[in-house]
Amino acid sequence: MPQDCIFCRIAAGEIQADLVHEDEQCVAFRDINPQAPTHILIIPRKHIEGIAKAETEHQALLGHLMLVVGKVARTEGIEDSGYRTVINWGRDSGMEVPHLHLHVLGGRAMSWPPG
Ligand code: 5GP
Ligand code: ZN
Repeated sequence: MPQDCIFCRIAAGEIQADLVHEDEQCVAFRDINPQAPTHILIIPRKHIEGIAKAETEHQALLGHLMLVVGKVARTEGIEDSGYRTVINWGRDSGMEVPHLHLHVLGGRAMSWPPG
């Protein structure tokens, strides 16, 4: 694990986070700077720099992360009202943390297209 990766350190329990889900493949926790009433980040325990670096060998893991989106949204109570899932990559997206993460945002109406 890259020692300077903040999300690897959260997954390892070295940095505190408000966890809402964890299993052998991933952890989910509340974003420290929420952009909606519900803002969860889902990360694989394995360090993958981002979606652009995912390989065929990660296929099952990626599928698992998608299923956890639905599970977390259900337990957060935003399944009926709706939510948005975002995966940023690269400069134009504004990505800040180079460890693959899925944002789950809900609890308010959102506009489209995103800014
Ligand atoms: P990105 O812009 O890379 O897609 O999103 C990174 C997200 O991670 C941001 O929404 C930011 O607020 C969140 N974040 C950055 N550092 C921490 C941290 O130490 N703890 C938590 N819970 N969230 C963080
Ligand atoms: Zn990492």
